Amino acid sequence: MAELILEVKNLVRTFGRRRAIDDISFTLERGSVLGLVGQNGAGKTTLIKHILGLLRAENGSVRVFGLDPVADPPGVLSRIGYLSEEGDLPLWMKVEELVRYSAAFYPGWDPKYAEELQKQFGLSSDSKLGALSKGQRARAGLLCALAFKPELLLLDEPSSGLDPVVRRDILSAVIRTIADEGRTVLFSSHLLAEVEQVSDRVIMIDGGRIVLNDDLSNIKEAYFRIDIRFEANQEVPPTLPGSIHWEGKGKDWTVIWAGDQSALTSAVCALKGRILTNRGVSLDEIFVAYAGGCTQ
Ligand code: ATP
Repeated sequence: MAELILEVKNLVRTFGRRRAIDDISFTLERGSVLGLVGQNGAGKTTLIKHILGLLRAENGSVRVFGLDPVADPPGVLSRIGYLSEEGDLPLWMKVEELVRYSAAFYPGWDPKYAEELQKQFGLSSDSKLGALSKGQRARAGLLCALAFKPELLLLDEPSSGLDPVVRRDILSAVIRTIADEGRTVLFSSHLLAEVEQVSDRVIMIDGGRIVLNDDLSNIKEAYFRIDIRFEANQEVPPTLPGSIHWEGKGKDWTVIWAGDQSALTSAVCALKGRILTNRGVSLDEIFVAYAGGCTQ
């Protein structure tokens, strides 16, 4: 069995009356790339803060490399490369100072790799971080998160507000390489098309709850968008197990479906309808079906 890098069991976190995390459980195996998706306020950052040991589980438990991140911060944080949406970099430093400063924290820092990344990201040593563009700062943060070859790379909305070239650096060049080296990546994003490009596994959270947790390949095989025409107007769409979301009116309806398609065909026939088209769906469409919201 593959080694578990992350084990979250029945995690609950409330802020005042609001349940930001509502009984979340999942595991993450070494070498995989997990895409964590959810609307604004879904609970992604709160979950990541628990993984980093910045928040203590109110109920349930979080184990990273088998350790409790609140009880053993050095044991956990020394093995995690973290890049947050904000960047959190000391803006008064130059790039070379940031590199020297970060290297001092991590015994596993690889100066050659750091140099390669600096070149690849086009960061000049004497540039002040405060004078860099948002994209260049994200690259500098990424360099620091990567150069000590962490076992787990944690990216919280890494592409938020960045241009496509920086996003490509972060996603294709970085995430896949890391996973190919047998290290593990968890990244949260609104950009579902990007999550789809690089993830092995996807967890969707909505209102602090997991609504979908599966391998991307299974998701791709299980979900369909099906257009149906009924003989008579339907006031409300039929209630069928397997239907995630209906849209339409009168005789014409579209359903996002995850289940046995022959069951749908028989149910549609029984209601004097016929299936017009049937196609696979993007992660974006599945997300909208579950969360009913905008994804960008
Ligand atoms: P975004 O994509 O906007 O960053 P998110 O999915 O990361 O959203 P969280 O930041 O985890 O969501 O927030 C989840 C919920 O918990 C939100 O309703 C948020 O307002 C609330 N919340 C988070 N941190 C706190 C806090 N320190 N105090 C009070 N409420 C909080």
